[in-house]
Amino acid sequence: MRTLITGGAGFIGSHLSERFLAEGHDVVCVDNFITGRPDNIRHLLDNPKFRVIVHDVSKPLFVDGLIDNVLHFASPASPVDYQKSSIQTLKVGSLGTHVALGIAKAHGARFLTASTSEVYGDPEVHPQTESYWGHVNPVGERSMYDEAKRFAEAMTMAYHREHGVNTHIIRIFNTYGERMRLDDGRVLPNFVGQALRGDPITVYGQGQQTRSFCYVSDLVDGIYRLLFSDYHLPVNVGNPVEITIKEFADEILRLTGSKSQVVYKPLPADDPKQRRPDITLARRLLGWEPKVGREEGLKRTLDYFRKKVQAEAKK
Ligand code: NAD
Ligand code: UDP
Repeated sequence: MRTLITGGAGFIGSHLSERFLAEGHDVVCVDNFITGRPDNIRHLLDNPKFRVIVHDVSKPLFVDGLIDNVLHFASPASPVDYQKSSIQTLKVGSLGTHVALGIAKAHGARFLTASTSEVYGDPEVHPQTESYWGHVNPVGERSMYDEAKRFAEAMTMAYHREHGVNTHIIRIFNTYGERMRLDDGRVLPNFVGQALRGDPITVYGQGQQTRSFCYVSDLVDGIYRLLFSDYHLPVNVGNPVEITIKEFADEILRLTGSKSQVVYKPLPADDPKQRRPDITLARRLLGWEPKVGREEGLKRTLDYFRKKVQAEAKK
């Protein structure tokens, strides 16, 4: 099988590329490196089954040879990244999804798009089930991402209903692991980088907002299972173990043995107050369950970030 992965040089995309290569697929990675890095995929470049096309997927793309699966993962994903590149984010969620769906239609390929828990906005239903329609501010500071992803879901369903494309929508909740960028602004790289450098840990608001963190290998397994299922409506994939951001800061301090102080900064606008996936559907449909607990996942991730911070200090 030949699998095209947009955003294949990003954090999740690079793990997906590895998994599909390990399953025996040929992988075509399409990336413009707006937030991804060549380093994420350097170890795959010698593999004859791996090919990279440097391209902005918001622009038309014609790929030689038959493609069996299209996974659309291209998009800035951290709030800092998507707010900095707001128009690119709206374009890749809308025009990019259209291009990726067009490729799937032309090749008769399976399609899966990376949606997000952000489609639920600042949720009024907890935990979040797929049947909840969400609470998104359409003109707020997160709207370029949330609305792009909501559009992407609508476009995907339209291609399924109107053109009969075999589409899938995964709603990904906060995921972490090796190859996140130390400077992507997300809570885990921020806290870990601050703890390892001995800088203050920046908790936004009172730190009472919650998140539920999923280790990347668990997510990749959920993606793989959903792609080969016959289910077309959105499916939540995430780890349902919920923690407040203050507790998370304390956990990072404990695991790193850091003496950093916690400081409180203003809570960004529209920051969701609580987030936890209801994964009943993924369990029933895909037999999927997260396997890597937070402590284990964080240890693996910390090993990765320690090397990055040491390399940074040597510069
Ligand atoms: P990332 O920024 O590491 O990866 C995104 C990749 O897409 C990068 O390599 C980037 O260069 C590429 N890209 C962006 N715009 C592009 C364009 N126009 N053309 C080609 N390539 C482009 O982010 P990530 O965390 O790996 O997220 C990957 C996907 O998963 C995104 O679609 C994101 O919305 C989704 N997602 C991630 C999370 C998470 O917790 N990491 C949660 C929900 C959804
Ligand atoms: N956050 C924080 N300090 C930081 C970075 C983030 O307290 O240095 C908080 C942020 O306000 C949010 C949570 O951590 O409530 C998760 O933020 P992240 O940017 O990782 O992702 P989100 O889930 O908001 O998309």
